[in-house]
Amino acid sequence: MTEQHRHAEVTARALAIAPTELFVDGAWRPAADGATLDVANPATGAVLATIASAGPDDARAALDAAASARDDWARTPARTRSELLRAAFERVHELSEEFAALMTLEMGKPLTDARAEVTYGAEFLRWYAEEAVRINGRYAASPEGNLRLLTVRRPVGPCLFITPWNFPLAMATRKIAPALAAGCTVVLKPAALTPLTSLALARVLEEVGVPAGVVNVVPTASAGAVTDPLLADRRLRKLSFTGSTAVGRSLLRTSADNVLRTSMELGGCAPFIVFEDADLDLAVENAVRTKMRNIGQACNAANSFHVQRGVVEAFTDRLTERLGSLPIGNGLDAGVEVGPLVSEDARADVDTLVRDAVAAGARVATGGAVPEGPGSFYPPTVLADVPADAAILGREIFGPVAPVTSFDTEEEVLARANASEVGLAGYLHTGDMARVLRFAERLEVGLLGVNSPAISNAAAPFGGVKHSGLGREGGPEGIEEYLETVYVGLTDPFA
Ligand code: NAP
Repeated sequence: MTEQHRHAEVTARALAIAPTELFVDGAWRPAADGATLDVANPATGAVLATIASAGPDDARAALDAAASARDDWARTPARTRSELLRAAFERVHELSEEFAALMTLEMGKPLTDARAEVTYGAEFLRWYAEEAVRINGRYAASPEGNLRLLTVRRPVGPCLFITPWNFPLAMATRKIAPALAAGCTVVLKPAALTPLTSLALARVLEEVGVPAGVVNVVPTASAGAVTDPLLADRRLRKLSFTGSTAVGRSLLRTSADNVLRTSMELGGCAPFIVFEDADLDLAVENAVRTKMRNIGQACNAANSFHVQRGVVEAFTDRLTERLGSLPIGNGLDAGVEVGPLVSEDARADVDTLVRDAVAAGARVATGGAVPEGPGSFYPPTVLADVPADAAILGREIFGPVAPVTSFDTEEEVLARANASEVGLAGYLHTGDMARVLRFAERLEVGLLGVNSPAISNAAAPFGGVKHSGLGREGGPEGIEEYLETVYVGLTDPFA
C-alpha cells in the first residue's frame, strides 16, 4: 500500500467517528442559519471536513437544553453518573486509534503525542467516574452548642466550557468529566481549528447513554457572538475557559456582570532551570520532552532555559544535537517526532520571536528558519547565548524553540523566574533536596516538575497562579470547581 493510500485509509477511519453537525439536546443538527466552517489539516493545508457553525440562536438552544436537563441530571444517582463516565472512558479507549488520528489530522501533532493525549484525556473520565460517588457534606455542632451545622454540596448548575485547539480531547474531558460527576450540565464551545475531536467525544457520550441536554457541543466560526449571550444569561452559572490570558481576561470581565463562577486555565511561560548539581543527561532528555511535546504548543511547555554557568555550554551543545536530529514530517507517518504548527499564523508568530531574539543578540545553534514546501512546519530551534533581558525569555513561544541563557546563583534565577506576570509551570533540575523544597515554597507557579518532564496527571491539580489563571483541574480539587456549598443551620435537637 502506498503512503498516500495509507493516509487516506487512516483519515477515513478517523473522520468516521466525528459527526459534522451541532449536538444540541441529544440531537445532531445543522446551524439554524445554515452556516458552516471548514476544518483543515495543517500538515497539508487540505480541508478535512466542513461542519456546522453555530450562531447565537443555536447557542441559546444549547443552553435551553442544559437548563432543562439540569434538575434531572443533578438528581440522577451518583452511581449512575459514575458508570456513564466509566463507560465513556472504555469507549474512548476502544476508539483510541481513531481519536489519535483525528487529533493528528486536525492539529498536526505526531501520532505518538496524540496517543498519549488519548490516554491522558480519557483518564479524566475514569478518575471522575471514581470521584462522582465521593461527594460529601458534613455535620457538626456549633462551638456554643446551640446549633447543628449541616453542610450540603450541590452542583453549581449549567456550565459553559470554552476550550483551545492544542489538546482537543484532554481540554474537553478535563472539564466535562468533573462537571458531569458533580451533576452539572454543559455547553461546550471547542476551538474553531479543532472541533472534530469534541464532536467525536459528544458522540461517545451519546452512545454510552448520557441523557439528552446534559452535554451540548456548539462549534462556531464566531466565538464571541455565540458565547457572549450565554455569559449574560441568568440560567448559566459557571464559565470554565482554557486559552490565552488575553481572551481569559476579557471573558472574566464579561462574566462579572452575571457574577459567574469562573475557572481560568490561561497562558504560561515555564522556566526550565538546571543547576550544576543536576544529572545533565537527564536534564537534556527532559528538556527535549518538555519542549517538544505537542511541538512546543503546550501551556506548560518549557519556555525559557536557565542553566547554571558551569554547565551551560555542555547543556546547549547536547540539546542542539538532540533537537537538531528529530524527524520532522506529517504526524501520521511512523517515526515522526515533529509535526507542523497548528496554522500559518502560528508559524509566523514563532518565526518573528526568533528573529527578534537574534536581533537582540541570540545565536541560532540549530533551526531558526521557515522551511520551503507545504504545511506550517517549523524546525526545532535552539537559541544560544540569549541575553537575560531578551523579550523571548518572557513570552509564551508556543513552538519548538528553546532559548538558553545562563545564571550564577539561586537567588538570581528565582528572581528572574518570579518576575514573570504568569505562573503556570516550572521545571527544576538539581540533586539538592533542600533546594527543591526552597523552590516549592518560593517559585511562583502552580505546577513544579522536579527532575521530571511529564507532570500532568488526572489525579493531580493542574492550574496556575498570577495571570495564568484561577482554579484547578484534575485531582480532588477539580470537582470542587463544580460544587456549591450550602449551609443549613438546625436547632439544637436537645434544647
Ligand atoms: P485562545 O485564542 O485564547 O482561544 C481559546 C478559546 O477561546 C477558543 O475556543 C477560541 O475560539 C475562544 N475564543 C477566542 N476569542 C473569544 C471570545 N472573544 N469570546 C469567546 N471565546 C473566544 O487560545 P488558543 O490559541 O486556542 O490556545 C492557546 C492558549 O491556551 C495559550 O496561551 C496556552 O497557554 C493556553 N492554554 C492553557 C492551558 C492551561 O491549562 N492553563 C491549557 C492549554 C492551553 P476560536 O477557536 O474560535 O478562536
